[in-house]
Amino acid sequence: MSQDWEAGRLDSDLEGVGFDTLAVRAGQHRTPEAEHGEAMFLTSSYVFRSAADAAARFAGEVPGNVYSRYTNPTVRAFEERIAALEGAEQAVATASGMAAILAIVMSLCSSGDHVLVSRSVFGSTISLFEKYLKRFGIEVDYPPLADLGAWEAAFKPNTKLLFVESPSNPLAELVDIAALAEIAHSRGALLAVDNCFCTPALQQPLKLGADIVMHSATKYIDGQGRGLGGVVAGRRAQMELLVGFLRTAGPTLSPFNAWMFLKGLETLRVRMQAQSASALELAQWLETQPGIDKVYYAGLPSHPQHELARRQQSAFGAVVSFEVAGGKEAAWRFIDATRVISITTNLGDTKTTIAHPATTSHGRLSPQERANAGIRDSLVRVAVGLEDIADLKADLARGLAAL
Ligand SMILES: *Cc1c(COP(=O)(O)O)cnc(C)c1O
Repeated sequence: MSQDWEAGRLDSDLEGVGFDTLAVRAGQHRTPEAEHGEAMFLTSSYVFRSAADAAARFAGEVPGNVYSRYTNPTVRAFEERIAALEGAEQAVATASGMAAILAIVMSLCSSGDHVLVSRSVFGSTISLFEKYLKRFGIEVDYPPLADLGAWEAAFKPNTKLLFVESPSNPLAELVDIAALAEIAHSRGALLAVDNCFCTPALQQPLKLGADIVMHSATKYIDGQGRGLGGVVAGRRAQMELLVGFLRTAGPTLSPFNAWMFLKGLETLRVRMQAQSASALELAQWLETQPGIDKVYYAGLPSHPQHELARRQQSAFGAVVSFEVAGGKEAAWRFIDATRVISITTNLGDTKTTIAHPATTSHGRLSPQERANAGIRDSLVRVAVGLEDIADLKADLARGLAAL
């Protein structure tokens, strides 16, 4: 561990405080110049007191910043706050959620290693493994997320890493993280969890036994659709390998976006709870509507993993997916009839969004890959924001009327 990380440790005043206090204050280094806010360091490089100081800092003998591809104080504040919220030894920020996934695999796996990725993951995650990582000798298989027996059966002697999204996008499937971590560890593999849909406000995978947790900070951590970023958190030994990769390869987070995410984290839990409450109400209402064939939301007792969701998460999240009767044309008519909700694939925003996964986020997958992921043409995904619930219901009613 480099000394500059030690220099940036949490204020000891914050030991033992609760989640909300950490969300607002962790990583904030009080100085007379920046007593209340989080300072934004918009600089690519840093000056040294002398040639000897420069040499010592480059060698890591003296703490301090060298270059913003390596460290930046604003980025480090964001990393410290995430580490505090996830209960991790260390967090490492990246330029996007995809850069976070790339960094995990590039840092922890080598050619000839086998990775198990849950079948129902974000579209670009599948593309990253299929189109790129496979070309460099990474072997990949895709067990169904919820089926622990299938995970056990999929292991090979060279299985190094398990990567899951729980709950998954867009079908809200879950895996028992504690049980899967045990399976992974009994075979000498690491478990990484994409915690994008829950955030540490609703689920803390490391506390359930996972080794690594990652986020697209673009989503709920920012919370207002302003910019891209990602973060990975876990044990120091593994995070140091990621730091090495990111410093060398370069997909690090910009200080401006880190500052934005620090601000986003301050309201994370209240947003997640309010958006989850609206999502639950809309899911319950949609389930009773004619024209809706099926609703995918773990907060509904009809969801096959409702009990697991209650155990593993403190709320059910803000994404509700459903199938409309009538296939793609009906799904498009439903989407086009909305007036308040934004037609966009982004999620995690205060503004509610609606999307047709089969022709957008999962459109670049082959029909076979899409079928494996369970994405039907009749599927519509709504990521619930912070508008009045009555207005959202009225907007979805326009969609229903268009069926
Ligand atoms: C958006 C998303 C990603 C990718 O994140 P970017 O910031 O867009 O690169 C990864 N996983 C999940 C679950 C996502 O929703």
